[in-house]
Formats: sequence, structure tokens, C-alpha cells
Amino acid sequence: MQRILIVEDEPDLARGLQFNLEARGFGVLLAADGEDGFRKAVQDRPDLVLLDVMLPGRDGYDVCRALRKAAPHLPIVMLTAKGQEEDIVLGLKLGADDYVRKPFGVAELVARIETVLRRAAAASGLPERLEFGRVAIDFVRHEARKDGRPLDLTPKEFEILRYFAARRGTVVSRDALLNEVWGYTSAPNTRTVDTHLVKLRQKVEPTPHAPRHLLTVHGIGYKFVG
Ligand code: CA
Repeated sequence: MQRILIVEDEPDLARGLQFNLEARGFGVLLAADGEDGFRKAVQDRPDLVLLDVMLPGRDGYDVCRALRKAAPHLPIVMLTAKGQEEDIVLGLKLGADDYVRKPFGVAELVARIETVLRRAAAASGLPERLEFGRVAIDFVRHEARKDGRPLDLTPKEFEILRYFAARRGTVVSRDALLNEVWGYTSAPNTRTVDTHLVKLRQKVEPTPHAPRHLLTVHGIGYKFVG
């Protein structure tokens, strides 16, 4: 799941954004002031930050400037209430990837977010899409299809497939998968990896007991063949 950190001091707006973004499959983190926003952006490693300009204490420009140093590749979309050209120019100069003027429509905001995420994905080398066998996946939109019909994948399954997609044909160890996909937030073991792979094969493989795409490499881990 792609996670978005919303740094916004107006509770109603923050909650509305959270509701709409979660409805579109994003995970949402909230911060109500600049200090908390900066801390969460660095510690919780979201995929994108929605950063209000007018915040109590440390304002959005200050946070943007600091984040560019602390997390150079973290995508930032500024929310500006003023809508004045100089504010937008300043935000972009400080390293924001895009801006949205308040009041904005949710559709416009989501389109901006997806564009920035696609750009970031392209820059990071992570694939935006993956096609293999009868399966087609759009990682930015979090949509998967099999034989043209919607395929229900969990957020973790999207992450696993994206990790494999970036490493087609190479052997991936269970430990590498654990570190990169599960990270340090939980404490699963390598059996967790195997359990997820079994379920994933049932969803994407034509014959799950004789996989053609998610192959076991005995004693090491897995290899994805597209
Ligand atoms: Ca504000």
C-alpha cells in the first residue's frame, strides 16, 4: 500500500482527505503541525507528503526545506490556501514536487498525487506496472487484473510483486524480502514469507502447485520469472 502523510492543522479537512484517500486504496498518516509532520515524514517513511503551507509553529515552507535535506527523494505536494503566484513559486523553489490550491476537488488532488508518485517511481527504478501470464498490475493505482477481471490483492501482495518486478530473473532471499517488504515495523519470520508466497501463487499462477512465475529456489528463496 502506498502511504501518504497529511500535514494539515484543520481537523475537518484532514479527516476528509483521509477518508477520500483511504477509499482509493492509500494508507494515511496524519500530523497536525509542522514539527510532528517533519518527524513522521522522516521516521515513518511515507511514499508522499501532502503538506499544508499555513501551519501552527513551523510552517510548510520550513518543513519542506528541512525535508529536502533529511529525505531528498520523498515526494512533497504542497497545499496552498493563498493561491498567490509567489507562494507557489517559493514552494517549488524549496523543492516541493507539485502544489494544489485550496479549495480543491478530490479528483484533482488524487490525479496530482498519482502523477507525482509515477514520477518518483520512474526516478527510483521501481516499476509502475507489471504484466505476466494472465495478470496485469498497476502499482501506482493499486489495481490488479487477471484475464481482464479485477484481482483482489492485499497491500502486502502488491508490495511483494513490486519487489519481484524490479528483480525479474534474479534470486531473492527470504531475508531480503523480509527486510525490504516487511521492514522493521513488525517481527515476522521467514515462514511469513513462505505463507504469503503460497497465497500469492494461488491468486496469480495458472497452476499454483506447479508455479511458472514465482519459483522456489531451494535453500535460498524465490525467483520471479515474467
Ligand atoms: Ca492550515
